This record gives sequence, structure tokens and C-alpha cells, in this order.
Amino acid sequence: MDTLHTMNKTGLQEHYHMLKGQFDHFCAQNISLNMARGKPSPAQLDLSMDLLNVLTPKDCLQVENGIDPRNYGGLDGIPEAKGLFAKMFGVRSSQVFVGGNSSLTLMHDRVARAMTHGVEDGCLPWSKLPKVKFLCPVPSYDRHFEICALFGIEMIPIAMTEEGPDIDEIEQLVREDDAIKGMWCVPKYSNPTGITYSDEVVRRLARMQTKARDFRLFWDNAYAVHHLTNTPDELRNIFEDVAGTENENRVYMFASTSKMTFPGAGISAFISSEANITAAKKRFFSVQTIGADKINQLRHVRFFEKVGGIPALMKKHAEILKPKFAEVDRAFTASLAGKGIATWTKPKGGYFVSLNVLDGCAKRVVALAKQAGVTLTTAGATFPYGVDPRDRNIRIAPTYPSMSELEQAMKIICVCVELAAVEKLLA
Ligand code: PLP
Repeated sequence: MDTLHTMNKTGLQEHYHMLKGQFDHFCAQNISLNMARGKPSPAQLDLSMDLLNVLTPKDCLQVENGIDPRNYGGLDGIPEAKGLFAKMFGVRSSQVFVGGNSSLTLMHDRVARAMTHGVEDGCLPWSKLPKVKFLCPVPSYDRHFEICALFGIEMIPIAMTEEGPDIDEIEQLVREDDAIKGMWCVPKYSNPTGITYSDEVVRRLARMQTKARDFRLFWDNAYAVHHLTNTPDELRNIFEDVAGTENENRVYMFASTSKMTFPGAGISAFISSEANITAAKKRFFSVQTIGADKINQLRHVRFFEKVGGIPALMKKHAEILKPKFAEVDRAFTASLAGKGIATWTKPKGGYFVSLNVLDGCAKRVVALAKQAGVTLTTAGATFPYGVDPRDRNIRIAPTYPSMSELEQAMKIICVCVELAAVEKLLA
């Protein structure tokens, strides 16, 4: 098939009627599929059912430092859980604070405390400044943007390249503007593009000169171990780049077991320099809590041991997920390739495929899909303020539906992408 751009008006009109017929057919079927968020499927959740019975009463009396997990104490987590995250990210246990069920809570709280109390001695709380700005690679995770919006932080979009966010632009902006206090990063298998930051981008983010002394990288490593291939991307360890430099306190890393075991019932971590962890424990964490759920920490540690380690468990997730990501690519290739109306990513890990449709068509595609029974992520959600300036990006979340539901959803999405494109070309 020719690209739609070379079709004459009559050809386009005929094509429109053919697509509209398919669309109406889907609408008549009363389909109801929700692909709005990246959630593990029930089959993935089944992989972690042993979490519910892995702990015995004896286990509770066998924590490394003799702490009783049934009782108060151990503000920063049991040693085994700190060790688990330390091993995963190549840091020392003393750099790890184990939190509750959600890394997003830790991110929100870090920003809130920066607003009320500042991030280091001698620097004003951000709320006392006339303006605070964050760099936001786009497209990216909508909930990061919602945190900025809540605290009135101005968001500056930064374009993504194949290597990560545009580092030349970032270096220039942070060198010149001391209102830029932070940057959101999903450095591995980024949400939604699947891009992993290159070594050079990581090194330059670690080393760059910032006008604001209290600039922080919010390093959301949510998909660190969520590979879809046997040749996983490697993310450079940014802590090795900042160690021993004046930027030692620059990195706030966040992670959780949300998409390893049960989302919303896992354990999370805040990982940073020893100085940042010590200060945060003294000033904030010890005021906020007597400690997170140590029983759940122990349960996760024992469960991961039982399944042969996190990589072994993540391989099982990948076996379930690979065919779904393959189906997304297969359907897009079969229906849209060569038509000049869409491009999409082929991620090696993470939870999403990023689809770019014709400029000005993303909202229309999402609305059409909804009409035909498929709920997609709101168009624009992957951009600050919910505004995609080109109205072209759509986040595809293929993990939750079953294979047959996904196949049906992909047929509908493909027809909607093409229908919206033809409408635009005819307008
Ligand atoms: N960070 C990213 C990039 C995510 O995509 C998600 C969930 O979709 C989260 C954080 C949420 O993590 P948690 O469940 O630990 O709060």
C-alpha cells in the first residue's frame, strides 16, 4: 500500500468508507478493554503467590541484626532488604533507605520536603524562592508531572533522543538558570519510550555544572530489572560517577518491587549518598515514621530467595510479556507500516510502547478507541501540563490484557490510527 500522503482525494474517500465500516463494526460489538495504565496481568501476579506463605513464625526471629520485625525499630529497613536493593543497584547498604509500598510516595515526599525545608544546609527551601523549575524529558511518566503541578513547579520539556534526554540542551539550561532545581529521569527502559540512557548521558548528567547548588536528579529506576530480551540494556551506575566529586549528593534514586511482585503491596527504596540518607533519616524519616513494614520486607527477601533470585523471577515475567510486546509490533507493522502515518518503539524492557501518530491526531485516536470500547492513556498525559504540543504521542500499555484481548484491542487501535489520519488528510 502507498503512503496515505500520495493518495488522491477520491482514493482517500474510498479508504475512509472502508475504515469507517470496520470501525462501526467494532463499535457494535460492545467491547470493553482498559489499556490505560501499565499493570501486570493476573498471570504475572500468580508468579508471586508464594509471597503469601513464604514466612514461618521462626523466620521472624532470624533477622540479620537480631531485630524483631514484629516490633517497632529499624527505621531504614532490615539489613536483608537494604542488602537486596544495594545488590540490585551496585551501592552500599548504608546508601539505602527502605520505604513503604510505593516509590511514588517517596518521590512526592522528597519534593514536598525540598519545598518546605530545602535539600541542603545553606540553601533556602524551594517554596521561599520566586520560581522553581524542573527539567522533564518528554514523553514520560505522567505522575512525575502531577507532583510538579501540585507544588507549582514550572516544567521545562526536554526532547528525548535514542541516547536519552538531549544532554547538550540540559547542560546549557542548568548552567545558566539557578531556578532549575531538579530533573525527572526514568533512566532505564523509560516510560513510555523504552529508551535506556547511554553511558555518555549518565556521565554528563552526573558531572555537569549547575548554577543551582541544590540541583537534584530524581532518578526513578522503576524498570531496572524489567528486561524483555536476553540481551538487556546496561545502565551506567551514576553513583560511581558522582562519588568523590562535589556532586556526590546530586542523585536521589527511587525503586520498588511493584512490578516484580504485587503492585501496591511491595517494598520501595530511596537510594542516595550516605550524607543524604543520614540527613533525611535524622530530619524527616524519623519524624514521619517509626519504620516501614518490616514483615513485608522479610517476606520479600525470603520470597526472592525461594524463587532463585530477582533475575530468575523477572525471566518468568518476560516469558509472559514478550508475546504481548511482539503482538503490538506485529499488529502495527501489519496495519500501519509504510503508510507514513505512525511510528512506534520496540522496547527491550519496561512496560510500554510509545506510539507517534500524525501530528494533531493523538486526541482523536484516543477518542475513537474509547468509542469502540478500548480505553487508552489520555492523549497528552505523557507531557507536562497534559499538553503534547504536536498532539501525536500515545502510550500503549500491553501488559494487562490477555493475548486474545490484546489482539482485539490492537485491531481497533490500528483502525483508529488510520481513520484519524485519513480524516486529517481529507480535512
Ligand atoms: N515510576 C514509574 C516510571 C512508573 O511507571 C511507575 C508505575 O507505573 C511508578 C514509578 C510507580 O511505582 P510505585 O508503585 O513504586 O509507586
